[in-house]
Amino acid sequence: LSVPVISIDGPSGSGKGTICRLLARQLGWHLLDSGALYRLTALAARHHGVALDDEEALVVLAAHLDVKFVPRGEENEVQVLLEGEEVTQQIRTEEAGADASRVAACGPVREALLERQRAFREAPGLIADGRDMGTVVFPAAELKIYLDASAQERARRRYNQLINKGLGASLDTILVDIQARDDRDMNRAVAPLKPASDAVILDSTQMSIDEVLKVVMDQARHKG
Ligand code: C5P
Repeated sequence: LSVPVISIDGPSGSGKGTICRLLARQLGWHLLDSGALYRLTALAARHHGVALDDEEALVVLAAHLDVKFVPRGEENEVQVLLEGEEVTQQIRTEEAGADASRVAACGPVREALLERQRAFREAPGLIADGRDMGTVVFPAAELKIYLDASAQERARRRYNQLINKGLGASLDTILVDIQARDDRDMNRAVAPLKPASDAVILDSTQMSIDEVLKVVMDQARHKG
C-alpha cells in the first residue's frame, strides 16, 4: 500500500542529479530534488535581504517558501519558480550551491523543509535526490543508494560541464570549492552527509552514467 521510495544520497558532482532524472523517467516515478529546496531558501534570503546566518528569519522563509516545479518537455526537465519568478538557471550556479550548503547547516531550516519533502512521495513511486534522503527524510526507503566519486573526478566533471557551456573555469578553484562543500556537508551537526547503514555504496569514479544506472536498476528489480 505504501508508495515506494528510492533514495540517492552523495556529495555534489557524484552524478546523483543525472541518475535520479534518468531513473524517474525510466520508472515513471516522481522526483524530489531536495538540494533545490535549500538553494531556493538561500535565494529567497538574498531576495529578502536576510543574512545567511540569521536562523530565525531563515526558518520563516523556509516554512513559507513559495516555489513551483513546473514540468516541461519529455526529458523530465522542470522550470523552477520562486514567488512566481523563473529562477531555474539562477539556482544552479556555484554560488547558489555554496549558499545552499550554509543554509542547510541550520537544523531548524531542515526541520521546516521536512514535510514539504515528504509530500513528494506520491504514487507510483519517488526518486529522492539529496544528502539525507536515506538517513533522515525517508528512513524506510525500499532502496538506498549512496553515490560517491573521488573529489578530483567530481571536479573534473564540473569543469567539463562549465567548459561545454562556453563558460570559463579553473579546475583548481573548482576542486577547492568542492572540498569546502564536502567538508561543510559531512561535518555539520545536523543530518550530515553519510551513507545510511543499509545503503548500497557505489563509487562512480570509474563508471559511466549508463553503468551506474544499470546497477541501480538491477538493485531496484532485486528489491521489487
Ligand atoms: O544537491 P545540491 O548541490 O543541489 O545541494 C546543494 C546543497 O544543499 C548541498 O551542498 C547541501 O549542503 C544541501 N543539501 C542538504 N540536504 C539535502 C540536499 C542538499 O543539506 N538533502
